[in-house]
Amino acid sequence: MNAALGRDRSLPTREGLKRAFLDHLLYTQNKSLAIASRNDLYQALAHTIRDCMLRTWFDTASSYKAKHSRMVAYLSAEFLMGPYLGNNVLNLGLMDEVKAAIAELGLDFDDLANQEEEPGLGNGGLGRLAACFIDSLASLEIPAIGYGIRYEYGIFYQTIIDGWQVENTDKWLRYGNPWEIQHAEWSVEIKLGGRTETYTDDAGKFRVRWVPEKTVAGVPFDSPILGYRVNTANTLRLWRAEATEAFDFPTFNRGDYLGAVSKKVTSENLTKVLYPNDESDQGKELRLEQQYFFVSCSLQDMLRIQINRGQPVTEFHLAFAIQLNDTHPAIGVAELMRLLVDEHQIVWEQAWDVTRQTFAYTNHTLLPEALERWPLKLFERVLPRHLEIIYEINARFLNEVRIRFLGDESRLSRLSLIDESGERYVRMAHLACVGSSAINGVAELHSELLKRDVLADFYAMWPEKFTNVTNGVTPRRWIALSNPRQTSLVSRAIGNDWIKDFSRIKELEPFADDAGFAADWQAIKRDNKIELAGQLLQRTGIRVDPDSMFDVQVKRIHEYKRQHLAVLHIVALYHRLKSDPNLDVVPRTFIFGGKAAPGYHRAKLIIKLITSVGDVVNNDPAVRDRLKVVFLPNFSVTRGQRIYPAADLSEQISLAGKEASGTGNMKFAMNGALTIGTMDGANVEIREEVGADQFFLFGLTAEEVYALRARGYSPSDYYRNNAELHAVLDLIRSGFFSRGDANLFAPLIDELMHTDPYMLLVDYQSYVDCQGEVDRTYRDTQDWTRRSILNAARSGKFSSDRSIRDYAERVWKVGPAPVSS
Ligand SMILES: *Cc1c(COP(=O)(O)O)cnc(C)c1O
Repeated sequence: MNAALGRDRSLPTREGLKRAFLDHLLYTQNKSLAIASRNDLYQALAHTIRDCMLRTWFDTASSYKAKHSRMVAYLSAEFLMGPYLGNNVLNLGLMDEVKAAIAELGLDFDDLANQEEEPGLGNGGLGRLAACFIDSLASLEIPAIGYGIRYEYGIFYQTIIDGWQVENTDKWLRYGNPWEIQHAEWSVEIKLGGRTETYTDDAGKFRVRWVPEKTVAGVPFDSPILGYRVNTANTLRLWRAEATEAFDFPTFNRGDYLGAVSKKVTSENLTKVLYPNDESDQGKELRLEQQYFFVSCSLQDMLRIQINRGQPVTEFHLAFAIQLNDTHPAIGVAELMRLLVDEHQIVWEQAWDVTRQTFAYTNHTLLPEALERWPLKLFERVLPRHLEIIYEINARFLNEVRIRFLGDESRLSRLSLIDESGERYVRMAHLACVGSSAINGVAELHSELLKRDVLADFYAMWPEKFTNVTNGVTPRRWIALSNPRQTSLVSRAIGNDWIKDFSRIKELEPFADDAGFAADWQAIKRDNKIELAGQLLQRTGIRVDPDSMFDVQVKRIHEYKRQHLAVLHIVALYHRLKSDPNLDVVPRTFIFGGKAAPGYHRAKLIIKLITSVGDVVNNDPAVRDRLKVVFLPNFSVTRGQRIYPAADLSEQISLAGKEASGTGNMKFAMNGALTIGTMDGANVEIREEVGADQFFLFGLTAEEVYALRARGYSPSDYYRNNAELHAVLDLIRSGFFSRGDANLFAPLIDELMHTDPYMLLVDYQSYVDCQGEVDRTYRDTQDWTRRSILNAARSGKFSSDRSIRDYAERVWKVGPAPVSS
């Protein structure tokens, strides 16, 4: 290798960057500066930055291969990566140089970076967690590969028309994706459908063969995942479905060429679109096919790597630690058994040992409707051989249960991998638990509730398998990249080691009492708010006051997250101001954002409620200078990067016991927002870390929710006994916010008054009182700023680097394997 050339591309000087950029403009885009579109300029810059990463990427793969490093394989149906360009420049340590080089060409870096279409290959928190985790794995120099699906259409693009959500397809690949390299040479073949046959092999052994109805090819697309300021670039490998080489030969031979080609289109449908449901499951055949497809591709890929290294497949667990991000990839347990037993002729017992030592399972939910189960008939149609394998796993497992718990028949049916209470289902969480050596929840409270509730019977079987790993988020993207003002202020105060070792952010604590620092901190928050205000005006036409309190709730729209509880508070304030126009309230801007699943009518109605209340409040001269309500469309990673740094107040108001962890709560705290929240998910730990004075707590605890439900809960009592709540619900129900249409919000309000499954009416008064406390605190700007700084300074625990260290020690038993440069 020509060292000078390698250096030229990997560690370019400013002149080198400019030359590479102009070269790519000409040789990749075939344009000149004079006629280039903004997209041409973005593409040229992206290719320039990509060149800087390729040597590290190549060296990393070579190093892992040479050292036979044990690799973490993170299997996730979603990776919500966010835009790559800025993050890669940051992790390369080239931000200043690149900005300067681009400026010298008369261009603006941020302007070009804003051209990038973010790969929205996830719904929300779960997919974003996978993205933070692979950033941390690379930054900690842990050998790892992320495996997922290269959806042609990611999460839909949300627009708001007449106050309602409208979904548009997300054509993120339209202008090409400069961050991926296709590796057709590592394509694999996937079987689907059909039937199984038994036969006796040459050694006289009884065997099973899967005769599929169809096959599709899986083609890997790799993206480099560069760690922060290290010489490690791991891989994100996403699979695309294509027709197999010899697609449909019989049809072809009959001369029906076009008929055969149309089957090709059918194969490609497999990875066409991401299912837009968050925290629920529709049991659709194509979704099961997607899950099996990417899991089988990934396992075959890992076996290829293992065999290439000259290692026996019986030592697979020594080469790979596979983490299942929820149950979406849980079919991997049965698939690894099939590959080992049917294709590699390993005996069942040994294959099962290998499988159990390979997998670990992360549970993400306590909501029953989100626990994946597949109708047995559907499952058998798509994966006939896997159903047989699951029956065999189940028979052996239930035998173990029978011996442990003599005569406990109901325990057997509770634990079975097959739900036989009505129509029969395959229970994916059960398959994941039985096939894994470790099971974890994603926050302390969630892990405790799992042991007590959802997975109690598995806990009784194997208490030693259970552990907690509290979620985290990467401080690179969520502070260093998205909040450059705060980043440079903090680095001036304590140096910049905190970006790599986020526990050191605690060194900021003494600055909470430094008047000069506090003034700078406050000015930065204001600048971030001005910037967000500009976006809000541009995208919604609503003008907001950057000196008002920015009260923010951004996350998927879901009843359990209780966006409508925040609306009840807004309506209560509005009602008070109308009754007493001279009332002294702190001016607030309520900012909402989030997508609703397209088929989740109540969630879509909550969006309509927010926008409708906003229409009235924002245009009422009596209140509009004091209250503003904005719904920012298409909440995404890109939008989040502007929003979290501009928030004063973070709304984390789910009913206790419903939110597994939350990660948005962590991003807000790191960026200096104070939280108003319930004792739910990671809120509990955030409050513990930042201190009760820095956290506005309200609402029932999970214990109290259980107790109230057991006693019997009657929402109408709360309606009758609380005059303001009564007035608020009546006002919405009357059609006041819907131009007199008393039917529009009836489904929401009637549910609250009759069943209220998420207990908004119980927590209402506590919430509204707590908001009063928020107001009082906010009036003392110095005090608020002090608490804001303390939030950021005490958020060290919530780096995903800490989460990954926990997994590495407790679950995967792997350590760093630095790549020498
Ligand atoms: C962090 C994040 C989420 C998760 O937010 P929660 O408040 O934890 O539900 C969802 N979507 C995007 C785009 C995010 O960045």
